[in-house]
Formats: sequence, C-alpha cells, structure tokens
Amino acid sequence: MRQLFVAGNWKMHGDKASIKTLVTGLNAQADSVGNVSVAVCPPAVYLDYTKNCLVASNIAVGGQNIAEEPVSGAFTGETSAAMLKDLDCEYVILGHSERRAIYGETDAEIARKVKTALGMGLTPILCVGETLEERESGQLETVISTQLNAVIDEVGIAAFANVVIAYEPVWAIGTGKTASSGQAQEVHAFIRGQLAAKDSAVAEKVIIQYGGSVKPGNAAELFSQPDIDGGLIGGASLNADDFIAICRAAG
Ligand code: 13P
Repeated sequence: MRQLFVAGNWKMHGDKASIKTLVTGLNAQADSVGNVSVAVCPPAVYLDYTKNCLVASNIAVGGQNIAEEPVSGAFTGETSAAMLKDLDCEYVILGHSERRAIYGETDAEIARKVKTALGMGLTPILCVGETLEERESGQLETVISTQLNAVIDEVGIAAFANVVIAYEPVWAIGTGKTASSGQAQEVHAFIRGQLAAKDSAVAEKVIIQYGGSVKPGNAAELFSQPDIDGGLIGGASLNADDFIAICRAAG
C-alpha cells in the first residue's frame, strides 16, 4: 500500500505575519492528520522562516522551483537545489503548469531540473496536466505521455522510485472546477500504466497526487480512488483548518 501524500503549494502568497498564523494553526492540529505524509511549499524567501515557525515534526518543507545548475553560479534571481537542501527541504515542485505557461519552461528543461533535484537528494513533485483545449481535442493522453516521457528519457524509469507525480489538469487549477473523481482516476491509471509498461514495480510504488481545486468537501472522494495517492493543494493550503481537513481525508 502506498502512503498517501498531501502537499501545499503556497505559490506566491504570504508574508511573515500570515505565515506565522498559518503555521501556528498547522502546528496545533498536525497531530490529528493520521497516517499521511504532509509537506508545505512556501515561496523561496520564506522557506527558512516557515521551517523556523514549524514545530510539527510530521510536516516537511519543499521549494516551488530550482535552477538547473545544482549548486551555485552566476544565475541572478535563481535558487539552487543545494540551497533548498541547506534549508532542510525534502521536496521541490517542478514543471507546474504556471511555470510551463507563464515562464515558458519546456519538457526538456523540466526533465533536467528533475535530474538536478534527484542528484541533490530532493524529491521532485513533477506536475503534468492538460489544458481544456487539449482535453477537448482528444490530446489528453498524448500531452501527458509527452510530459512524462521527457523526464523518463532524462533520468530513467528506475529514478521514478524517488519521484512524486502530480496530475493537475490546467482547467481545474484555481478555477473551482475539480475534475470528477472518475475523470481524475482515469488519468491517474493512465499515468501508472505508462510507468508500468516500463517497470511495473516502480509504477506500483510511485505516488500520484491530484491537484486542482481540492477542498475539504471533495478531498475524501478523490483520495478514495485506487490510483489517487493524495493531493497537491493550492488555495486551500493557505488556510490551516482547510489544509488539515484535506490531510485528514487522506490519513
Ligand atoms: P488550487 O488548489 O488553488 O486549484 O491550485 C492547485 C495547484 O496548482 C497546486 O499546485
């Protein structure tokens, strides 16, 4: 059985005061989440502050992006995998649709970042997902397998034992439109099948989170699906009660 995993992607939200309030709420309720892995991914400038506020030992911390270059160099504005490790981060979100769409990150670039993260001992949370246009024009499976294969070609299938995948349909992110549990399960099973065709033992182990308007009210139904192993939570992760409720639904 796979241990479910819920992560909060805070995106570019928060300041010291709001993070203090949020983390205080998480600390107070962290004991109640049950048997689930939990992480929060604050903006890079607040990683250390968040880590310092966190008392709950069952909540890990992750970044939202890294540079391809693993350690350091002349890359103004970038954050390296070594820097995340230095701050005791365990995870890094890579290939989020906002990075793909707004910052033009390509499959090849994301694949190289996954390699960098793995090389530094970080667990990448690799995001894949289709736009509404792609889904409606029948390209769903091609889009997902192209995104996945770029990374498999770069790091090899065995490395996926240390990769978390997040299926995030772009049309469900921040829109209040969640994929139905059936729609999500179908894509999760497709992703696991793609991996299984290359290595069935790895496919059985890999955590596949669902992301896109997950809320306390729909989390349990999504997480009850056989191939949905938790969630990557945006908006609802900024409220301690909501995020803990979602974690409990997985625990
Ligand atoms: P929402 O939960 O706000 O839809 O965001 C999902 C997401 O993009 C998480 O990475």
